[in-house]
Amino acid sequence: MRGRKGRVAAIAVTGSLLVAGLVVAASAESSVQVALHKRHDLQKRIVEIQETRRQRRHVLHKRIRFTQARLHNAPSAAEVGNLAKYRQFRKEQIERLAELRAEERELFRTTRAKARELRAQRKQLANWIDSLPLKRCPVAGSVAVADNFGVIREMPGTPRHVHQGNDITAPTGTPIVAPFDGNAAASSSHLGGMQVKVFGAGGYVYNAHLSAYGKLGAVKAGDVIGYVGMTGNATAPHDHFEWHPGDGAAVDPFLFLAAVC
Ligand SMILES: [Zn+2]
Repeated sequence: MRGRKGRVAAIAVTGSLLVAGLVVAASAESSVQVALHKRHDLQKRIVEIQETRRQRRHVLHKRIRFTQARLHNAPSAAEVGNLAKYRQFRKEQIERLAELRAEERELFRTTRAKARELRAQRKQLANWIDSLPLKRCPVAGSVAVADNFGVIREMPGTPRHVHQGNDITAPTGTPIVAPFDGNAAASSSHLGGMQVKVFGAGGYVYNAHLSAYGKLGAVKAGDVIGYVGMTGNATAPHDHFEWHPGDGAAVDPFLFLAAVC
């Protein structure tokens, strides 16, 4: 009786955590996707501005050279024989040169200001993206990430449980890497087989079913901490991956993984 009540309560708690986790992850993820796209767009616009400036400058320089040549190759006052006409021609060409040079200065002023503004926006976004907890795919290779956080697992030999992560399918032996700087620690269990956790500044990740361990202890993002396998309760090689922000309950990492894997 007591056992059953406990289980019902556990499911209710998991349910509400699940909903909260999904909401948090979904909004965080869509902003990650938006930021990644925006950074890409900003980069494209900066390159476009530079290219447009190059082209317009080229045209302006051609016009300036043409006007200078007209001025220098113009017949002399004696040849023209009309001083007023001669002066008028020179005046027009000099004014034209001044206009073209002003246009060139304006082109530099506006494009430089615009490019500077876009670069500042890109830098701000890049800083934000760099601050994200899961910056790189935990499995280094061609992977398939299952959107299966929260599904109920009923498998022979293990208690019924709510799936606390995403399964990242990859061939046995594919390197599993630290998604951030931290401390990698190995452990093992009946369910997870060979497991490795990485504890970082923002929380920890948990990888299960490894075929072998890699570097343990102090690790940098990207260090190989193990290899994909199917130890423990697994029917195919994959990395069972969990993300525990602030070392608390697992949240759905799917949208983060979708952005970086
Ligand atoms: Zn799993």
